[in-house]
Amino acid sequence: MKIVESPHEAYAHIDHWRRDGLRIGLVPTMGALHEGHLALVRQSRQECDVTAATIFVNPTQFGPHEDYAQYPRTPEADFQALSELDVDLLFVPPQAKLYSEGFSTYIHPPAIAEPLEGVCRPDHFRGVATIVLKLFHILPATVAYFGQKDYQQLAVIRRLVEDLDVPIRVVGCETVREPDGLAMSSRNRYLSPAERQAALSLWAALTTVKELFGAGTDQVAELEKAMEQTLYERGANRIDYARVVDCDSLQTLGRVDRPAVALIAAYVGATRLIDNILLGERGA
Ligand code: AMP
Repeated sequence: MKIVESPHEAYAHIDHWRRDGLRIGLVPTMGALHEGHLALVRQSRQECDVTAATIFVNPTQFGPHEDYAQYPRTPEADFQALSELDVDLLFVPPQAKLYSEGFSTYIHPPAIAEPLEGVCRPDHFRGVATIVLKLFHILPATVAYFGQKDYQQLAVIRRLVEDLDVPIRVVGCETVREPDGLAMSSRNRYLSPAERQAALSLWAALTTVKELFGAGTDQVAELEKAMEQTLYERGANRIDYARVVDCDSLQTLGRVDRPAVALIAAYVGATRLIDNILLGERGA
């Protein structure tokens, strides 16, 4: 595995592979890798000739009172895991290489960024859209892999790619969970044993809503109330949102009369966790 820090060097590798006609997979991450990230890498390895991964904790997607400084960083373990999976190229830029002095150009994210996370984390998707487009320029791969765990982020990236004619195919990969259902997340490392138990409240609420829907309840207000109740009963201490919305537009629904997605952002102790589940046939 070749490890590079400079955007020019990273571009040169991808450019070389493109000239050879290779199918190139890209897996952008913020590191502190877990099986969820590694599943994206495995899928890329299966579907592409070469795989590039990136590790960069992107400061512009964190709000001023969020966990940028504390965000877990485990470079040695990450390098080891990626190298064991035979990743061809790892891009680990220092912050100054991506945000040089005077940096001031940002992507205004698409409308689908506005609800949910957009309300709770006002500049989050501006930072995400900006860094993702930068990475797509530095590493112009054939296919980019993202997790459905970050459902709205995936929708934002799909829209960005379509709106700005970015010549890259975006693939969404299923959420990888712990055996008890907790969605894997780098932020799970923050949880104490008691909080780890309470973190299951998200999966409990999502499975409750899925069961209710399966049993014929289609009123969104009822489904959302059940999610809230389960979240609080099972130990979440604050809910940013627990919503059932159209799975493509993320717009509010009165009844689930089309494919929908239930999305949760909730705090367990000081840790903010997100998760989601599809209701109905189609996924984003
Ligand atoms: P992050 O390092 O949190 O920015 O995540 C990097 C990529 O991994 C994003 O596309 C995430 O959606 C994806 N990802 C994170 N957790 C999971 C998971 N549990 N299952 C599948 N993909 C995930």
